[in-house]
Amino acid sequence: MRARALRLMLGLLLLAGALAAHADPAAPGAVIDFQLRWHHQFQFAGYYAALEKGFYRDEGLEVRLHAGAPGRQPVKEVLAGRAQYAEGNSEILYQRLLGQPLVALAAIFQHSPSVLIARRDSGITSAHDLIGKRVMLMDGSADADFLTMLLNEGIAPEQVRILPSSYDFNDLLTGKVDAFNSYLTNEPFYLRQRNIEFTIIDPRSYRVDFYSDILFTSEAEVRDNPARVEAFRRATLKGWRYAMEHPAEIIDLLIAKYGVAKSREHLEFEATAMRGLILPDLIEIGHMNPGRWQHMADAFIKAGVVKSDARLDGFMFDPRPRRVPRWVVPVLLAAVALIALVSLVAVYFIRVNRRLVSADDQLRAANETLVANLAEISALHKQLQDQAVHDPLTGLYNRRYLDDVLERELARAVREGYPVSVAMIDLDHFKRVNDTYGHKAGDRVLQALAQMLQAHAREGDVPCRFGGEEFLLVLPRMTRENARRRAEQWREAFAGQVTRHGEIEIHCTMSVGLATYPGDATSGEGLIAGADRALYKAKAGGRNRVEAAGGA
Ligand code: GH3
Ligand code: MG
Ligand code: MG
Repeated sequence: MRARALRLMLGLLLLAGALAAHADPAAPGAVIDFQLRWHHQFQFAGYYAALEKGFYRDEGLEVRLHAGAPGRQPVKEVLAGRAQYAEGNSEILYQRLLGQPLVALAAIFQHSPSVLIARRDSGITSAHDLIGKRVMLMDGSADADFLTMLLNEGIAPEQVRILPSSYDFNDLLTGKVDAFNSYLTNEPFYLRQRNIEFTIIDPRSYRVDFYSDILFTSEAEVRDNPARVEAFRRATLKGWRYAMEHPAEIIDLLIAKYGVAKSREHLEFEATAMRGLILPDLIEIGHMNPGRWQHMADAFIKAGVVKSDARLDGFMFDPRPRRVPRWVVPVLLAAVALIALVSLVAVYFIRVNRRLVSADDQLRAANETLVANLAEISALHKQLQDQAVHDPLTGLYNRRYLDDVLERELARAVREGYPVSVAMIDLDHFKRVNDTYGHKAGDRVLQALAQMLQAHAREGDVPCRFGGEEFLLVLPRMTRENARRRAEQWREAFAGQVTRHGEIEIHCTMSVGLATYPGDATSGEGLIAGADRALYKAKAGGRNRVEAAGGA
């Protein structure tokens, strides 16, 4: 029981320790490669801010930013392991739905800047006007937002002549294409500078509203370095908040440190346009809504570019802060272990106590029985002792007792120097009583004599039944003369009484022989022999008389 409790406590403490150790994986300080989606520009302002203001360093992270290029796609870089984190558009969701292990950490742009731009003079004013027209799309089949826009307008994608993007805006200006996939934050600036009138076809006007500029990483990173993922996300979003509050500072930085090709005015245009897409005053930067992601996934499915059973599970990183401090779990576990141990010990002691109480009860009961038995044995013993020294017919002491008492009295008389007399009594012609009235009547006479002797006995006298119809009395501190006087009283009393047995009345007499210490003898045997001789003399002298050994 105690060993089991100890094992249990040890197990719980080890578990608590393991959890405590696991609850706080320090963010590894390895270098992080971050892949931007395109050339350096204000579009990535948050990352520059996080780097420049030391937000990454504060989290123990060393981050290297890599500019994008046509051959350097964020998704590819992350999947190949060349970058651990990157920023991308809805292609991240598209690849995820195709089965790639990508995880979205934060949506920087609440609305996509990706639109179609057409020259006003092309006559294109709505999505419907794109039928039969040449349209350059950046991501081709993955441009689910445009495909969905067409479908929402009842236009089959085949009705539009879709071309892969040349990334050369001149193709629109020269009329090589009718509509060009552009960024609201970028190309309109050129057109305005050149005073070229244009039309914007925004999927948002056709009920298609996608996230954009999404911070993402791989499933492996989330699984292996969850603390680093949180740290990187935290520092990046802090960078973004800083950049939205200090755009001029980031523009200066872009010009001074990143050799950005755009003019300050162009960068300022970009910063202003971005505010309308990031909405930093309305929405917490980076916010993602699972419903909106699902809506985007449905758009991909509807556009037929991914299978209808594609699922989004695990795509959205859960940035919820820990609800309880890290120390709570191990402390709780230790408390549970302690409570369990205390309970086990308590149960153990309760059981032991119960057993002790029951043992105590049994012991007490056994003790009571023992005491009762001892009392019974003692009573029996006393009874046996009584029976051993008493005559059953008359209730007087028997001869065995007499021998003892006589020796004792004589010893004391010798010590203290006083006389002891012995009187031997025998019924006269008792045979006749038996013969005339029967043995039972004889017994009644024996009992009557015993009663008479006892009635006349003084303190210290010991009357005994010596055997048959003979009785003997030990009379301490009694001289011969006094003994004779008393014997005469008994003789007279007995001779004067009648013993009744039913209808019968019996008269009987007795003879008495006396002997006295120290005059007649100095031993018990000698006294009895002396008394016997005196009795013989009384019989011979006619019975119903008292004789003393000395003859006096
Ligand atoms: P004596 O005067 O010479 O003593 O004549 P006795 O008839 O008394 O003669 P003895 O002493 O020889 O006889 C004793 C008789 O006492 C014999 C026996 O039948 C009777 N007796 C002895 N013990 C008992 C007893 O316990 N009960 C009865 N009923 N009779 C007894
Ligand atoms: Mg006799
Ligand atoms: Mg007799």
